[in-house]
Amino acid sequence: MIILLRRVAAVCALSAVLAACGTGRPPRAAPPASAPPSRPPTLVPGPAGLTPVFEHGPRTRGRTVALTFDADMTAGQGARAAAGERFDHPRLISTLRALKVPATVFMTGRWAEQYPDQARSIGRDPLFEVANHSYSHYAYTRDCYGLPTVPEGRMRSDVERAYAAFRKAGVTDPMPYFRFPGGCYDRRALKALTPAGVTAVQWDVVGGDAFESDPDVVARQVLDGVRPGSVVVLHCTRSAAPATERAVRAIVPELRREGYRFVKVSELIGAADSGARTRPEAR
Ligand SMILES: [Zn+2]
Repeated sequence: MIILLRRVAAVCALSAVLAACGTGRPPRAAPPASAPPSRPPTLVPGPAGLTPVFEHGPRTRGRTVALTFDADMTAGQGARAAAGERFDHPRLISTLRALKVPATVFMTGRWAEQYPDQARSIGRDPLFEVANHSYSHYAYTRDCYGLPTVPEGRMRSDVERAYAAFRKAGVTDPMPYFRFPGGCYDRRALKALTPAGVTAVQWDVVGGDAFESDPDVVARQVLDGVRPGSVVVLHCTRSAAPATERAVRAIVPELRREGYRFVKVSELIGAADSGARTRPEAR
């Protein structure tokens, strides 16, 4: 597991990471005026006031699974994007739409700035939800796969800067969920983010799509790892995760054949009272 985690983080660290996901296909009709306002479910902070950490949903309440896609982009990758390197993956989003697979996209603020049309398209499509993956993919701990570090005093503002970028792109209702770059966090980071009101979302299944060119390898790893309530981490970038879209085309029908229903992270968190896994320090 450690090795796999390192591999995922390597994606982030080495760079190229992910970006984008979305296409120009649009979205949704506004909800009826009579619809009650809905607030995304979040976990309650622990007694110490720390940001809660969510890892997976209930294991015993049906076969649900959440596919999540990290749209990484660092501040320094802007020049590469300007030179033509693609950090997005429109075909992946198109495939998820064609297969009608709900998904949660953990987006960096920089990605939303680079691909505002795609960010808006994803954010306004009810099939998806946009969550926060920091502004420019800096780490929230001092030692996280070589990523540059966000100073403790700027952690909250880094998260808020990403939300501001989403809203500027036209993502009207981003989720109050945050995924730490590289998955790295400690008590200090959890405390610093408490005022931001987010639930930190980790995962229990590593897709292993970072720099993997064989979709069968990714599909097998996901299919072997998924259990009821699982949160699967994958990536949404052609440059750093070239096999992901093909892997999804294999994963989705197989999990459906096994009786799984795809859900967004918010649905798993909403069911979290009974048996979801959260970190002890978050309680
Ligand atoms: Zn990332």
